[in-house]
Amino acid sequence: MGISGGHDAVVIGSGAGGAAAAWRLCAHGLRVLVLEAGPAFDPARDYPQDRPGWELRGFPERPGSRAVVSYGDLGQLDPADADLGSWSRAGFPWRLPAGAPRPPSGRGYSHVLGVGGSTLHFVGEQHRLHPDAFRLFSLTGKGADWPIAYDDLEPYYTIAEEMQLVAGAGAAPGRWRSRGFAQSAHPLGPGARAVVAAGRRLGQDWQVNPRATLSAPDAGRPACNYCGQCARGCPLGDKGSVEVTFLRVAAATGRLDLVSDATVTRLHAGPDGRITHLDAIVDGQGESIETPLVVLAAGAVQTPRLLLLSADADHPQGIANSSGEVGRNFMETLSWQTTGLVAGLSGSHLGLPDDAICWDMAAPGRVPGHAGGFVLKHTTVETGLNGPIAYATRLVAGFGASLKTALRARFGSALSVGAVGQLIPDEQARVGLDPGLRDAHGLPAARIESVLTAESRALLREMAGAVRTLLAEAGAEPVEETGSRDAFAAPHVLGTARMGGDAGRSVVGPDARAHDHPNLWIADASIFPTSGAVNRRASRSWRWPSAPPMRSPAT
Ligand SMILES: Cc1cc2nc3c(=O)[nH]c(=O)nc-3n(C[C@H](O)[C@H](O)[C@H](O)COP(=O)(O)OP(=O)(O)OC[C@H]3O[C@@H](n4cnc5c(N)ncnc54)[C@H](O)[C@@H]3O)c2cc1C
Ligand code: SF4
Repeated sequence: MGISGGHDAVVIGSGAGGAAAAWRLCAHGLRVLVLEAGPAFDPARDYPQDRPGWELRGFPERPGSRAVVSYGDLGQLDPADADLGSWSRAGFPWRLPAGAPRPPSGRGYSHVLGVGGSTLHFVGEQHRLHPDAFRLFSLTGKGADWPIAYDDLEPYYTIAEEMQLVAGAGAAPGRWRSRGFAQSAHPLGPGARAVVAAGRRLGQDWQVNPRATLSAPDAGRPACNYCGQCARGCPLGDKGSVEVTFLRVAAATGRLDLVSDATVTRLHAGPDGRITHLDAIVDGQGESIETPLVVLAAGAVQTPRLLLLSADADHPQGIANSSGEVGRNFMETLSWQTTGLVAGLSGSHLGLPDDAICWDMAAPGRVPGHAGGFVLKHTTVETGLNGPIAYATRLVAGFGASLKTALRARFGSALSVGAVGQLIPDEQARVGLDPGLRDAHGLPAARIESVLTAESRALLREMAGAVRTLLAEAGAEPVEETGSRDAFAAPHVLGTARMGGDAGRSVVGPDARAHDHPNLWIADASIFPTSGAVNRRASRSWRWPSAPPMRSPAT
């Protein structure tokens, strides 16, 4: 098909950043063309969570919905960190020889290409960074400072949360709010209640996790039914992924044209630095599209790839890359999960994934000796332990009648706690172009390098200690553990086109406009200077496992 002209702006990518940008531009009266590389998904057809075999399905794949990526240096497994190796009682394929390269795991980088981007399979947790997280370098000497502050961003957090009708209860510690949440908080499931009680006995502050998931019908969308399938695709549309929030409202203005299966392959800049036009492959046909304004929002892996692919004689390092920073400072988030079985617990398979959260360690310097911090969450449903197949293959031994008996006795008694931690951006971590691998259009694939430094592994050990202590307090007997040391899963990718005040050391300025091109904005996770530990400055302190946990009388 041919794309008609006359748009005031082209947005590349319809995920979290692209959809929000498209809505804002439409709301201001601009005619906006969104070019989305992936297909549009149909919940009724594509997310059949009510049919047999639902547990065996992940987020669906459709033609063109997976990017081709390769992995470069992911770091060696240090034998000294063997205690951080993933394991399971069921002998899950985790045991790796010491010194082997850290593998991408079965999932690797798995972000979907499609209308709605990664929010199609995001869980819907809606967090704000702690104000101190914007000054990580000033406070700790590590990472980078943001060129903007929490107070600059707060009005936009509020807008985004209202567009996504976030359900929550009260401000997260340390982060002031100009308005309350749009919807009342979701109830905690049985597993979360057990974790929260254990955490409070340890002196921790646990809260309901704010969610872009409807707790009551609104905007023509139903309330959540707590099926727990958010990462497999929400069949109801109550999850506030951007195709049912920002893009729907943008379309209602009549000024949005959204084209799926449209991959942008190159940006062209004129002698004055302005982007003049871009190349795209739309339904298999090459197109050249002129535009006065470009918003690039292809995500932290595909955005740097596209900028690097756009190199020409005048821009030998790629578009927006006079600093050489495009692709650098790639960040994943550190991850740790421990699961145990708790005698007497039932119903832990019920409720929203990640329904309860503790922010106590999630601010710069909050974990003694570490710049970055981490959050703790109840993750039983997120780790997939909400169906019998997961129990039978991961947690409960037996065969035939003995397996059935064991399943009846133990189903609903698993408890998972996870920690998500801050990885300090590092010189070695970057996204570049693969020298050999090509995508379906014959273009070099993105190549991800993400080494876990000694600093990251040390924080991972703190995360594991905190999770293990909490589960022990909850009475859980560990059955499996997984973590970043030997599993690159990277649900959160950030940082490859850094925002900064210094044009020699960053790609975009404080307003997200490219230093090198006055009509190019980048509006996705690639501009994050740091992933941002989130939390308050806690007034009390607790340690694990070397110090005895502080006990609180109230639970
Ligand atoms: C399983 C999972 C769970 C998650 N849960 C949460 C959560 O609970 N809370 C949270 O805050 N975050 C969560 N995240 C992370 C969150 O989804 C991402 O951080 C966020 O969506 C990133 O937004 P983005 O705009 O940078 O990229 P994306 O949302 O990935 O959007 C990029 C878009 O660009 C398109 N694109 C790529 N290349 C091109 C091209 N060349 N031309 C045209 N289009 C292109 C892609 O198809 C995609 O639609 C989760 C992620 C995963 C994978
Ligand atoms: S738990 Fe709620 S938000 Fe998640 S998939 Fe089910 S209905 Fe959708």
